[in-house]
Amino acid sequence: MVCDDINGKYYIAEENIGVYQYGAEPTDGTAVADRVTVDKNLKLGGHITPQVEGLTIFHKRDGGGYLLASNQGSAEVTVYDRKTLKYLAKFKLVDGPVTDGVRGTDGIDCISTALGKAYPNGLFISHDGFNRDGDVRKNQNYKYVDWSVIVAAAAKKGIKLTSDPLYDPRADLKKAVRWTCSMHPSVNLLAPGKCPICRMDLIQGRGATPGGVRYNGVK
Ligand SMILES: [Zn+2]
Repeated sequence: MVCDDINGKYYIAEENIGVYQYGAEPTDGTAVADRVTVDKNLKLGGHITPQVEGLTIFHKRDGGGYLLASNQGSAEVTVYDRKTLKYLAKFKLVDGPVTDGVRGTDGIDCISTALGKAYPNGLFISHDGFNRDGDVRKNQNYKYVDWSVIVAAAAKKGIKLTSDPLYDPRADLKKAVRWTCSMHPSVNLLAPGKCPICRMDLIQGRGATPGGVRYNGVK
C-alpha cells in the first residue's frame, strides 16, 4: 500500500489480482465502484507478473511522477504515470560487475530528491530475496540504484522516464492549502466543502503535512 498525500489518493496491491487506486479523503467512497483498477496480473489481461508486492511513488512537481509496483514473480518493477495511471514501462535490476541482480522481490521504495554525490538523481531501492556465494545461500539484502540508471535504461528502449532531483515533496505538502472545520480541527481535506462530522462549511486552514509518524517505544 502507498499513499499519495498531494493528490489525495492511496494505492493497494492485491497479490494475486493487481493494483487499485482509492480516494484518500475521509469523504471518498470505499465501495468496489469507487476504486480504479490501475493494472492487473498477466493472466487477467494486465502487465503484472504475480505476485504484486510493494508499491511506491516517485514524486515529481505538480503531482506528477510515477507509481511503481514490485512484480515478485519476475523481479520486475512496473511503472505507471502518477496522474493518468497509464502503464509506461517495466524494468529489472540485473547482475552487474560487482553485485547480483534482484530476485524474489518483496518491497521497493524510492525518493526523487537528490541525495548527494552517490544518488544525485534520486534513489530507487529494491529488496533482494536471494543471494548466493557459490553454493552458500547468503542473507537477503537491498539493492540501491541512482534513478538516472533506470531513466537511461528506459531511454535505450525508446521509453521516456525523467528525474526531478531538485523537487522536495515535503515542501510542497507544507504549502498545500488544506480545508478544516472550526469545530473539528482533525478534519484536514484537500478541497472545500462540508465538514464530514457536523456538515458545517469548511474553512481554509494552514498548509499541513498530513500523515506524520510518531515513534513509540523506540530506543
Ligand atoms: Zn465539523
